[in-house]
Amino acid sequence: MHTFEFVRPPDSAAAVANAAKAKTAQQGADVRFIAGGTTLLDLMKLNVETPARLIDINRLPLGRIEATPEGGLKIGATVRNSDLAHHPAVQRDYAVLSQALLSGASAQLRNMATTAGNLLQRTRCMYFRDTAMPCNKREPGTGCPAITGSNRMLAVLGTSEQCIATNPSDMCVAMAALEATIHVQGPKGQRAIPIGDFHLLPGSTPNRETVLEPGDLITYVTLPPPPAGSRQVYLKLRDRASYEFALASAAVVMTVAGGKVTRARIALGGVGTKPWRSPEAEAALVGQTASARSFRNAAEAAMRGARPQSENGFKIELAKRCVAHALQTASTI
Ligand SMILES: Cc1cc2nc3c(=O)[nH]c(=O)nc-3n(C[C@H](O)[C@H](O)[C@H](O)COP(=O)(O)OP(=O)(O)OC[C@H]3O[C@@H](n4cnc5c(N)ncnc54)[C@H](O)[C@@H]3O)c2cc1C
Ligand code: SF4
Repeated sequence: MHTFEFVRPPDSAAAVANAAKAKTAQQGADVRFIAGGTTLLDLMKLNVETPARLIDINRLPLGRIEATPEGGLKIGATVRNSDLAHHPAVQRDYAVLSQALLSGASAQLRNMATTAGNLLQRTRCMYFRDTAMPCNKREPGTGCPAITGSNRMLAVLGTSEQCIATNPSDMCVAMAALEATIHVQGPKGQRAIPIGDFHLLPGSTPNRETVLEPGDLITYVTLPPPPAGSRQVYLKLRDRASYEFALASAAVVMTVAGGKVTRARIALGGVGTKPWRSPEAEAALVGQTASARSFRNAAEAAMRGARPQSENGFKIELAKRCVAHALQTASTI
């Protein structure tokens, strides 16, 4: 691993000022915040990330989970995934988030991984992680060998001619269905970003993954109050039962009254280039009788724009079944 400077700022303002010296907040940044380190140190060992300065944010007061005055939840950036998953308010009111977190990685990793770090975890595309290979996300303009190569794990929604990498997060899929907001402190002050606007599609700039700018520190995430009577499920399908990324996953937050679906939030993981909320599936479901047929129709709507590659066409039917099964399970809670 290359050499780097390690900095422990006394407060958030000093952390932001340090990071604002970076040229970019995206791939190739020369200054990086470090939280749990479970993504960043991996990539530094592989020479995919080579920051000159690491800013340790673990001593900043960003580690609390609190109720908001509106009845929602405020989750600090350095809250560990395991603490969040086991928090009583999350288990009671945001079960889909707890289930998603507990389906990710291993217990040991979840004890280190943080809320902000999870929002910013990188793709597991094998070419991205191998500096001997070209990759538009790592080195813009070099090409995308995944399109003609190994793409079984990669995306079928939101892809471009430049990149088909999957966003691998489970937590973000649940947060998309819960309509989370990400709060950022940057050189120009504070701002709040709905999760749907936080991650970017690859388009012609796959090296740019989020709307973050140099110096931006994620400080916390808020969840709105849980919808009354909502039924919540996270279902993750993968090659083995644990310690594996999703081939397809679904987060559903659904309300049923008098046998009809009155509200639905549906997001998918493992198939999109970003955590994939599906307004199409939600529109297809709301107002319908809660039944196997309407759940399947919603699943079809979710995958209508999917574009398969040479090895991952199976994901389209898998994801449909995943959405339909998650809805079916939620309807019986
Ligand atoms: C073997 C393995 C298996 C895994 N399996 C899964 C899985 O099944 N599902 C899943 O969802 N995830 C999985 N993960 C990924 C894991 O969830 C992430 O590595 C973790 O959430 C990252 O959090 P961290 O705190 O360690 O981030 P770090 O590595 O510390 O940081 C990650 C990135 O976020 C930036 N960053 C961190 N905090 C902030 C902040 N406050 N503001 C701005 N930037 C910040 C860092 O600069 C860095 O670029 C796995 C990881 C490993 C190593
Ligand atoms: S899919 Fe994206 S990350 Fe993977 S090789 Fe292509 S450009 Fe790189």
